[in-house]
Amino acid sequence: MHASPAARILLNTPDIELWPARLLRARGNRDARVLSRASLILRRKRDGRYLAAVVPEGIVGLLPRWQAEAGIDEALDLLDAGVMPAAQMPAHRLPLSQAEAHLEALGFDADDYIARTGLTLIAEPAWLALAGLDRYRRPLWLDGPTARAWQALREAAARDDVALEAVSGYRSHDYQLGIFERKFERGLSLDDILAVNAAPGFSEHHSGRALDISAPGEPAAEESFECTAAFDWLRRHAVEHGFTMSYPRDNPHGIVYEPWHWRFDPPADRASPVRAISA
Ligand SMILES: [Zn+2]
Repeated sequence: MHASPAARILLNTPDIELWPARLLRARGNRDARVLSRASLILRRKRDGRYLAAVVPEGIVGLLPRWQAEAGIDEALDLLDAGVMPAAQMPAHRLPLSQAEAHLEALGFDADDYIARTGLTLIAEPAWLALAGLDRYRRPLWLDGPTARAWQALREAAARDDVALEAVSGYRSHDYQLGIFERKFERGLSLDDILAVNAAPGFSEHHSGRALDISAPGEPAAEESFECTAAFDWLRRHAVEHGFTMSYPRDNPHGIVYEPWHWRFDPPADRASPVRAISA
């Protein structure tokens, strides 16, 4: 089950993610044959397409022209470096240059947004740890310390007979950009979307330190979560485990009240860009 450390780590680059193959579902017969023999899958972040698979005899392309894919060199370099156990992985984050370029292409005034909301661009971690499954049985990815802290939080709640469920953890810049693109296609304006979604690059979910929490049978991301035993427990005990609610009522960022959204602040990391959000 937990055979190799690579089976529990997501390696991240600006354009491409390297996924443990066992966590991905095949999307066709050919994919299924390759996936069953693969250790890792190179996956395009923008749309989730599988580019290539690492199999015992080398790399098998899953899309034509995968070798010309944007960011492929960086992904292959990472592959050459190998996957180490989580404890030995470097804690660095990816550069923000690509997020800035995407915002510019959207015609988005980042300086104005930063001045208005007090939010800041958030770098993605260079790798993420598997923190179990979310309520939809999808892999839940968080940065290393947050994955451990979430598991401890969940176990502590369980000891008090309170069940916590993760709804959503790490999300990439590209994923958030995709949300905006789909809403533009449906005719929503930038302002309409910004009323509900943080701009791509500005979501705390990019940090790998934030997650949306719910309880079994409760709707996801609804204000009614504040009436649950799970929320009451979080309100009293989350801080003991390093978690705080990022968007309480009337928060200075102008973000709607989100009783379901919690962030882990490792005490030794006060100077990180993630931390700057709460300033
Ligand atoms: Zn959230």
